[in-house]
Amino acid sequence: MRHQFDTVIIGSGLAGLRAALEASGEGSVAVLSKLYPTRSHSTTAQGGIGAALGNEEPDKPEWHFYDTVKGSDFLGDQDAIEIMCEDAIRAIIELEHLGVPFSRTKEGRIAQRHFGGHTRDFGVAPVRRACYSADRTGHAIVFALYEQCQLKGVKFFPEFFVSDIVIDNTRCHGVITLEISTGEFHIFSSKVTLIASGGYGRVFKTTSNAYASTGDCLSILYNRGIPLEDMEFFQFHPTGLYGLGILITEGARGEGGILINGKGERFMERYAPTIKDLAPRDMVCRAILTEIKEGRGIDGKDYVYLDIRNIPKRTLQERLPEITTFCKIYMGVDPSEQPIPVFPTAHYAMGGIPTDIDGRVFMDEKGSVVNGLFAAGECACVSVHGANRLGCNSLLDTVVFGRRSGKAIRGEIRDMEYGRIRNNELERSRMLIDSILTNDGKEKIANIKTDLQDRMMEHCSVFREEKNLKGLIDSIRILKERAEDIGLKDKTRKFNTELIDALELKHMLTLSEVIASSALERKESRGAHYRVDCPKRDDTSWLKHTFAFKTEGAIEFRYKPVAITKFQPEERQY
Ligand SMILES: Cc1cc2nc3c(=O)[nH]c(=O)nc-3n(C[C@H](O)[C@H](O)[C@H](O)COP(=O)(O)OP(=O)(O)OC[C@H]3O[C@@H](n4cnc5c(N)ncnc54)[C@H](O)[C@@H]3O)c2cc1C
Repeated sequence: MRHQFDTVIIGSGLAGLRAALEASGEGSVAVLSKLYPTRSHSTTAQGGIGAALGNEEPDKPEWHFYDTVKGSDFLGDQDAIEIMCEDAIRAIIELEHLGVPFSRTKEGRIAQRHFGGHTRDFGVAPVRRACYSADRTGHAIVFALYEQCQLKGVKFFPEFFVSDIVIDNTRCHGVITLEISTGEFHIFSSKVTLIASGGYGRVFKTTSNAYASTGDCLSILYNRGIPLEDMEFFQFHPTGLYGLGILITEGARGEGGILINGKGERFMERYAPTIKDLAPRDMVCRAILTEIKEGRGIDGKDYVYLDIRNIPKRTLQERLPEITTFCKIYMGVDPSEQPIPVFPTAHYAMGGIPTDIDGRVFMDEKGSVVNGLFAAGECACVSVHGANRLGCNSLLDTVVFGRRSGKAIRGEIRDMEYGRIRNNELERSRMLIDSILTNDGKEKIANIKTDLQDRMMEHCSVFREEKNLKGLIDSIRILKERAEDIGLKDKTRKFNTELIDALELKHMLTLSEVIASSALERKESRGAHYRVDCPKRDDTSWLKHTFAFKTEGAIEFRYKPVAITKFQPEERQY
């Protein structure tokens, strides 16, 4: 079936919804999602969204700006970061007016709490900057925006899986999707396509990310010749539930929780004497793994404790009810009585589709754009998070840059023609899917996926090293070959989730190769990318963004300078 919309948005997380709301002011808008819209990963965001409202204590956008630059280990583009931090206050008030039920102070203002790396007076002491709705902040915002989009007549296509994004030369024409329930193809021609397809934490064994976070659209664009930026920077979050990876929000430490090693020490005092447990995530993850490596895990094992017993029970009930329940259900631990076993979990992709500050997708490191193609949210790299994102800056990124993209789209579509998608483009998708369905190969999706996730976790997570990365890349290539020989048990077309798994696995393999290869190229340590064999940050050679291009042979790397406007790189101490 063929459809035509002025704007087609892939993804119904916060970036997609906020962009849809804005774009709905001009022309027709369709939102496609492989999930039911309100099940996007954004709904699981717990701890908060950052803005220097100063409701609890003095705060300024300029301090937020500085913290974000420093948190990014000076790789974030400062023009974009300044826009985000300056716009944050307006964005929060707007969300409140759109119906988001934020938690309140006694005086009735939007309440705020501490989060890692957010400080006052340029690093002097932690500041309460995270606005929250208990520990269900993402849920509250997604539902408010979804309702607003319904009101504005945005058309949703739930459980439509994007199998291709049609780009020829410098123009995007629209997308090809598979309707999961029927197995039918739908072609969406558009004036503008916006990708808001979220992250890809599922390439790692232990992750806080939803099962759907597999990065399909990044892989599709990369195969279509669009470069991917800064893919070596993948954030691990310090406090995943041990053995499971389910997230315990940084808000738990924001409310006063502390990390404890096997000797009962509050070890973050040694690693970040000023802000201790509220140091940025990259530093806390390395600290935890160092404690474990040096034999100071709990009972010598490979985890530490997050201790929130000092937080009054009433506060836990009011502000952290969700994580309290998670601990009870998944670990059998009542966090008001017992410490919680935690270990770092793969959490957030700093890298992604390169864009300008209004979401236009770059097709090279020089800034040429693809007509009719935008990206926003976690899949995009503006880059406001550089080498390491600060907590509560991603939700902010989605609403600020989602809105900016929507605005820019509104301005552009008036003079644009609809894209034209020829039948041979549909044939590409059809052949791919037919070949997967008819293949009687011996390989199983689950085996290849587990192998990939184990290897990525072992060799490409918090600590990395040249020889391991090389071995990893070789094994990913072998896994890619094995993936050509997958045989599905379910050969039908209707609601074939095994087919979706097979498509997602191919994308995960593509992205893993780019992540590992980008990590091998960057011979320094910065933010979340820590090379054991090059442990220092090297601004002379590496203060630049990586652009990875697909070529016939090896991946081609080119580089782009970092936008530095106000804060010169300095040593990062907390
Ligand atoms: C457990 C958890 C807690 C978090 N807590 C916080 C927090 O407190 N504060 C904060 O700032 N950040 C937090 N983050 C990060 C933040 O939530 C995410 O980065 C952000 O919500 C991503 O939003 P998004 O709109 O870019 O994508 P998502 O919400 O991930 O949505 C992606 C969308 O793309 C669609 N999609 C993807 N591929 C396809 C395809 N092939 N076809 C069709 N549709 C497709 C999906 O269906 C989905 O609708 C948290 C993340 C996690 C995992």
